[in-house]
Amino acid sequence: MRNEMDNVERLTLVGQMAAGITHEIRNPMAVVRGFLQLMREKSPDDLHSYYHIVMEELDRANSIINDFLSLAQSRISVKERVLLHGIIEDLSPLLWADANLRGQTVELNLDPSMPLLQLNVREMKQLILNLGRNGMEAMGSKGVLTLETRISSDRDRVELIIRDTGSGMSEIEREKLFVPFFTTKSQGTGLGLPLCLNIVERHHGKITVHSQQGVGTEFIVSLPYEVDEAPILAIAE
Ligand code: ADP
Ligand code: MG
Repeated sequence: MRNEMDNVERLTLVGQMAAGITHEIRNPMAVVRGFLQLMREKSPDDLHSYYHIVMEELDRANSIINDFLSLAQSRISVKERVLLHGIIEDLSPLLWADANLRGQTVELNLDPSMPLLQLNVREMKQLILNLGRNGMEAMGSKGVLTLETRISSDRDRVELIIRDTGSGMSEIEREKLFVPFFTTKSQGTGLGLPLCLNIVERHHGKITVHSQQGVGTEFIVSLPYEVDEAPILAIAE
């Protein structure tokens, strides 16, 4: 067991993903194959329900491939001086539409004194959408998703908080959050949070989680203020 861990530890994140993806794609493929075999023997009525299962499994395989590609391709991070609030406001209609469909609401609580930061806009959007969607998926109707920004108390970091009033997580879930392919959802890929962690690290930031079962969860993304001085073109290790 120890040797196995050592080998895994030596692999890069993308290397681990490549090993995992083979396994993860095989599952939906096995399901699709099994149902195609059943379809040959069944009546048209049964075919209808099988059709949905097959489509869902193919969609899941597709999501895994998309998330994996996002992780594998994001080696060069081009940053520009932007307002984090501009990015959040661009995403608001999308988050609102998603929340509306679920009977939930989105609240923004943005600190007006926020400085310009060196950010990769595409990556930041992906981060906020992933954390926001996770929050929505953890809540039932009437849930509230809050996006908040503030300057840290020692004034050298900017904090972005994404809070939900959802199910919260058990200790075991919290420990496994950032492990690639860990998911508790039937349609989940378990790649959203590893991708978020990757993005935050490329911005020299940190991500912390507070969660209480039955109460909700908050993710705090903390980005250094001096990100301003970082080179425009940063190459990730
Ligand atoms: P996915 O969303 O595809 O399951 P993620 O990497 O985004 O993959 O999340 C991994 C797991 O972490 C989720 O399946 C869920 O169990 C847990 N999780 C993430 N965010 C939250 C949240 N806001 N509330 C409760 N559980 C969460
Ligand atoms: Mg997710």
